[in-house]
Amino acid sequence: MLRSRVSRNAGAQRPFVAEVVPSGATRLEAVSEDATETLDDELIDDDELASEAEGPEGLDQEALERRAAALAQVVKFGDPVLKSPASPVTDFGDELAGEADRMIGLMRDAIGVGLAATQLGVLRRMLVFQVGGEAEPTVLVNPEIEWRSEDAATAEEGCLSIPGVVVDVERPLFVRARAVDVRGEPLIVEASGLEARVIQHEVDHLDGVLMLDRTERDQRKGALRALREGGTYAPAQDEDEDQEAPTQE
Ligand code: ZN
Repeated sequence: MLRSRVSRNAGAQRPFVAEVVPSGATRLEAVSEDATETLDDELIDDDELASEAEGPEGLDQEALERRAAALAQVVKFGDPVLKSPASPVTDFGDELAGEADRMIGLMRDAIGVGLAATQLGVLRRMLVFQVGGEAEPTVLVNPEIEWRSEDAATAEEGCLSIPGVVVDVERPLFVRARAVDVRGEPLIVEASGLEARVIQHEVDHLDGVLMLDRTERDQRKGALRALREGGTYAPAQDEDEDQEAPTQE
């Protein structure tokens, strides 16, 4: 469902496993091409956040502990860094490659499919993603989405920075992103479906935009209420819809 032509640097080619959605793909369904509404900011008190993300079923104790340790390093909703735009990367090389490897490791341990540097409190334009168990992790530095399809889809998304919350987000189904790798070499990624969704979610992080800014008003309100009260939120399911696990990004 996803196709990309990506030039990867050798340092990012270690095999990483378990970068999968807990129980299958997100549900992707065709929707109208109406533009996504971006809602006004609303502040909440970060003392009131849920402190723990629930571990996906099927993880052994060691994996759960690794996940908790990784999530503890991820900046959570309420921290103003998540609303801040990141700055372009200007220094390439070993240090950046090491930082990218650290991000990939944390994404893997957290059972996420994507992670932006912003989520580690680092306001640099770098993201990693890995969609599907067989896919290699990809590092995008200074990514720009240079083309989006008019075809869009709505699917549930989760966010490692917003534990316990799932919302529906409409996004273009196909994107083309231009970026460089950790050595500064240019690369182009053409992605569709879930991979395209993850890339857009992570680029949003680099721009200080959250999935809560891109969901419908009722869901945003429900999610913010849950965050204030330390609960969880997921949109109501229609009876005839598939119920598959959302991605965690
Ligand atoms: Zn996220």
